[in-house]
Amino acid sequence: MDIGFIGLGEMGAAMVANMLKAGHQVRVWNRSPERAQPLADAGARVVATPAEAFAGDAVFSMLADDSALREVITASLLEHAPRGLIHVNMATISVALAEELATAHASRGVNYVAAPVLGRPDVAAAGKLTIVAGGPAESIDRVQPIFDVIGQKTWRIGSLPQQANVMKLAANFMLGAAVETLGEAATLVTGHGVAMQDFLDVITGGLFPGPVYSGYGKLIAEQRYEPALFKARLGLKDIRLALAAADAVTTPLPIASVVRDSLIEAVAHGDGEKDFAVLGQVAARRAGR
Ligand code: NAP
Repeated sequence: MDIGFIGLGEMGAAMVANMLKAGHQVRVWNRSPERAQPLADAGARVVATPAEAFAGDAVFSMLADDSALREVITASLLEHAPRGLIHVNMATISVALAEELATAHASRGVNYVAAPVLGRPDVAAAGKLTIVAGGPAESIDRVQPIFDVIGQKTWRIGSLPQQANVMKLAANFMLGAAVETLGEAATLVTGHGVAMQDFLDVITGGLFPGPVYSGYGKLIAEQRYEPALFKARLGLKDIRLALAAADAVTTPLPIASVVRDSLIEAVAHGDGEKDFAVLGQVAARRAGR
C-alpha cells in the first residue's frame, strides 16, 4: 500500500520499520526531521510537511498527545486532503478530541479511524501490538493489512472512533493501578526484609501471571527506570484522560485519582521522562527509602 506516516517517536518509528519490511511504500513526516533518517535509510521517503503525508491509500499518525494532534491535524490540512483518504490515528488521545476529529474529518470527506494500541515500543518493534480499532467497518477493512503487519491482533470496538479511545484509556487506567499497587506492595514486603525477587516470584508465579506484573516488577526490582519504554509523563497524560472521560459520563474513578497524584509526584521530582515503573520509586520514597 501507499502510506503516509506522521510522528516518528518511539512507537511510530517502530511501526514504520515494520511497514517497510513488509514491502509497503511509506512517506514519513516528523517535527524533528533527524528522527526520520534511520527510516530513510530503510527505504522510507521523507516529506517536508504533514500535507505531503496526507495522500495515497491511507495516512497513519502516532503523535504524543492532544495538543500535538491539534497542531498538526489542522482544518486546512483536512481541506486539502484527497477525498476518501483514510486517516488512522493511533495515538492515545482524549475521548473528546477523538469525537471532534471524527466530525471534522467527516465534514471534509476524509475517513477517520481511531486505532490506539496496547504494547510498548519493544512490542511495536516485534510487530506484536494489540490494536483497538473504532470507526466505520469499511475503512477498518481497508487498513487491516497494515494492522496485520504492526499488530498481533485487532479488536474492533465499535463504529464510533472514540469508543476505541475510551477502551484504551480504561486499559491504561488498569495498568496504572497495577503498577501503583505493585510498587506499594513491594515497599511493604521489602520493609520487612523480604527479598524483592522472592516477592516477585510468588506474585507472578500463580496469583498474577502475565506481562504487567512480571515486566514492571522486574524494572522495580532492578530500580531500572531509564531508558524509559513508556514515559511517566505520557502515563500521567493517559490517567488524566481517563479521569476526564469518566467525568463526562459522571463516573467516579477514585483509584485513578491516586495514580494521577503518584505520577504528579514523580514528575515533581524530575522523573517525568523515566519509565512508568518509577511508581515503584514513588512508593519507596514515601516510606523514607
Ligand atoms: P514519543 O517517543 O515521545 O514521540 C512523540 C511524537 O510526537 C514524536 O514524533 C514527536 O515529535 C511528536 N510530537 C510531540 N509534540 C508535537 C507537536 N506539538 N507537533 C508535532 N509533533 C509533535 O512518544 P511515543 O512513546 O512514541 O508515544 C506516541 C503515542 O503513543 C502517545 O499518544 C502515547 O501515549 C502512545 N503510546 C505509547 C506507548 C509507549 O509505551 N511508549 C504505548 C502505547 C501507546 P518530535 O520527534 O519532534 O519530538
